[in-house]
Amino acid sequence: MKNIVILGSTGSIGTQTLEIVRENPDLKVIAVAAGSNVARMEEQIREFHPRYAVMWSEESAKDLKERVSDVQVQILSGMEGLIEISVLPEVEVLVTAIVGMIGIRPTIAAIEHGKTIALANKETLVTAGHIIMPLAVRKNVKIYPVDSEHSAIFQSLNGENPERISKILLTASGGPFRGKKREELVNMTVEDALHHPNWSMGRKITIDSATLVNKGLEVMEAKWLFGVDLDRIQVVVQPQSIIHSMVEFVDGGIMAELGAPDMKLPIQYALFYPDRRPMKGKRVNFYDLARITFEEPDKETFRGLQLAFDAATAGGSMPTVLNAANERAVAMFLDKKIRFLEIAEIIEAAMQEHKVISNPNVEQILQTEASVYEFIDAHFAK
Ligand code: NAD
Ligand code: MG
Repeated sequence: MKNIVILGSTGSIGTQTLEIVRENPDLKVIAVAAGSNVARMEEQIREFHPRYAVMWSEESAKDLKERVSDVQVQILSGMEGLIEISVLPEVEVLVTAIVGMIGIRPTIAAIEHGKTIALANKETLVTAGHIIMPLAVRKNVKIYPVDSEHSAIFQSLNGENPERISKILLTASGGPFRGKKREELVNMTVEDALHHPNWSMGRKITIDSATLVNKGLEVMEAKWLFGVDLDRIQVVVQPQSIIHSMVEFVDGGIMAELGAPDMKLPIQYALFYPDRRPMKGKRVNFYDLARITFEEPDKETFRGLQLAFDAATAGGSMPTVLNAANERAVAMFLDKKIRFLEIAEIIEAAMQEHKVISNPNVEQILQTEASVYEFIDAHFAK
């Protein structure tokens, strides 16, 4: 039996993780956490019988408590609750399927307590990778990637010597606006941006895919996970999303992982590594597919990708600025308060405003986040 905790159980990755639990009776969900979806949480409690459930707000926690008063489950709330369930002694794996920097503290706490991390929450590594990766080494903790590209890289590195990596080829679908020029992006709506061609994901990451900020965050995520310098990470647009990423080695050989676009594969791989379990679902049919194509990303139109490279190059607290500004700007776009192209403009303005703190600790990361929010609210709130 493998005991797991899922932070963000009601979201896209969280619910797909639970689908895997349904198929694999040797996985046991000990605790779940979510933001505000009390109804979905109630269903999950009744189906999976976790010992603990966390809602972010006390109000939602109270509501949930009333709904499940007939069930034996402890309801917690807030950051305290998230941290408490991330360090439970009986737990082996923490699935970080929560969205945003809120994942930093629970992830660090779990590593300190020796938990294996199945990491989907890329914002945490982007902003605190310099704290998390050395801590994981010190605690001898494994971090298995859930992000499809990073899982592909991880799978391509099976049995290889990481010192023999020549470069990482991080693939990108290009998102819903691939091939469009700036003038065409001016009037793109929330509905347009939420319409991803290949992947069905949460709202924030879907917008990040449209701006290519997601790919920028993934470049930083890859840098931390695989210890490869930025100049050896190349983004390659592969619109069919069949090649999930590749690694080129010093002899010119390239290893890739291919498959139908389905997040359940990387989630399941992270949960059972080094085993592979059977999985239902679509398979690639190469006769139907006929071709896999490649393009260079358009960093001029999709400024967000360039800004992410700039933030990664500046290092220190700058990736936090990019990430926090993006989190706020995407929320404003989803609320229809700003236009699509303003997301990158806001990120750029926040980055220009910031003086880099090198090697920031968690407090400084969270302070940077707060000051970025303050800056955006003062200058861009409408
Ligand atoms: P989502 O929006 O569908 O789900 C987010 C989950 O986090 C929900 O359960 C929500 O309730 C929970 N949550 C949000 N704020 C919270 C808070 N303050 N306290 C407790 N819970 C909170 O997002 P998603 O698409 O599943 O993405 C989750 C993470 O995985 C993100 O970091 C994303 O970048 C990454 N990721 C997602 C996919 C995908 O296919 N969806 C692929 C790769 C990586
Ligand atoms: Mg990805």
